[in-house]
Amino acid sequence: MKRLEYDVVILGGGAAGMGAIRGALSQNASVLLVEREASTGGVLNQCIHNGFGVRVFKKELTGPEYHEMYLEKLKGFDAMYEATVLDIDSESRLLKVISASGIYKIRYGALVLATGARERPFEALRVPGSRPSGIFTAGLAQHFVNLENRLPGRKAIVIGSGDIGLIMARRLTLEGVEVEGVYEIMPYQGGLTRNVVQCLKDFNIPLHLSTSVVKVHGKERLEGVTVAKFIDGNPVSGTERFIGCDTLIASVGLIPENDLVDKEIEISSSGGAVVDDLMRTSVDNIFAAGNNVCIHDLVDFVTVEGEGAGQNAARVAKKEKMPKRVGIFKKGKGIRVISIHYTTATIPFKMYVRVDHPMDMAILRINDTNLKTVLNAKPSEMIEFTLDPTKYNLKGEIELSAVEAKR
Ligand SMILES: Cc1cc2nc3c(=O)[nH]c(=O)nc-3n(C[C@H](O)[C@H](O)[C@H](O)COP(=O)(O)OP(=O)(O)OC[C@H]3O[C@@H](n4cnc5c(N)ncnc54)[C@H](O)[C@@H]3O)c2cc1C
Repeated sequence: MKRLEYDVVILGGGAAGMGAIRGALSQNASVLLVEREASTGGVLNQCIHNGFGVRVFKKELTGPEYHEMYLEKLKGFDAMYEATVLDIDSESRLLKVISASGIYKIRYGALVLATGARERPFEALRVPGSRPSGIFTAGLAQHFVNLENRLPGRKAIVIGSGDIGLIMARRLTLEGVEVEGVYEIMPYQGGLTRNVVQCLKDFNIPLHLSTSVVKVHGKERLEGVTVAKFIDGNPVSGTERFIGCDTLIASVGLIPENDLVDKEIEISSSGGAVVDDLMRTSVDNIFAAGNNVCIHDLVDFVTVEGEGAGQNAARVAKKEKMPKRVGIFKKGKGIRVISIHYTTATIPFKMYVRVDHPMDMAILRINDTNLKTVLNAKPSEMIEFTLDPTKYNLKGEIELSAVEAKR
């Protein structure tokens, strides 16, 4: 077994991992990236639509363009590709990594987790009926179409109106697949409004809200599905309708990828790594950033988080004394997701939240103080704001809430 030693080891080389490389290099740390795939980029590589980089590069780029431009900023790090971690021992700061060239023991000063998210499979919905071929998650279908030049089928329905489902409805249409419709169990859309307009409305693809699949038909290959109206998560009897199709694209959520570390670090109720404003987890020398912390809409947010995690990981590796946590955030009324759970109240930092239902006008509050007014707040659109410890009291228990108000 080969032995190596680095100041900062980064697990996962998507947007968050690349940001962490940049952050750690800026502090003159020695950096090793461990990546499961053959290159950096993560999900960016298969997202050939534009809409990336408006903040970081002040341009609308495709995923691969964003990847390439960001990669140009990174000089002087080591990488192990097609490699994965078998074991993390946070006490002795040792990782066991396997790659085609063997098994390695790597000692780290600090570790950054940037492993992204995985797709929730259709099976998780427990829909009755058979399980023929022709059922794909949206990311897998995107991989087939954009990276392998293969079509999943000829006539498709999409379930779930999150951004990936919307983007795939348009992508399949552009490739000549008939997309019968997008079906969403909730009474509101799951993705960004710009994606509903640009991916569905512009292509006359109907969006059916409060509707989902109640039965799958077909033996070898999918022959169709039965859909029905849903109220409060339950199908309404008498509203069933059969749709003939050979393809079902399921875009029913992303799950933060933390299986490797869920015994080592604190995990939130939504499956993300619990972090403070330094992107530090519950273990002092393990940091996390990106979709394994919480699912982000925009790559720019992920990059900023990654850069912060990398910088702070390098400081820890170089034995700098780091501030203690002094405040804990609680989700109050109207809030479903928060990205940061603790604060050291030492630096201004970005917080991202999602509301728990659509609000015509939401007033975001920190304890009893109004923070920001958001028009048309939706669970699908992350709300971003900066918390400055010189302006707000960030000690003790801090409640973040969203109060619905009239315009
Ligand atoms: C379909 C889709 C469309 C999007 N569209 C936009 C858009 O238009 N504009 C925009 O700004 N943002 C968009 N986003 C959001 C943004 O691109 C993502 O949030 C961001 O790229 C995620 O970066 P990440 O580094 O957290 O995760 P990922 O890109 O998933 O990277 C995680 C990396 O970790 C590696 N990994 C995982 N486990 C291990 C392991 N055990 N060992 C080694 N390596 C491992 C993976 O191989 C991967 O490379 C989109 C996202 C998706 C999925």
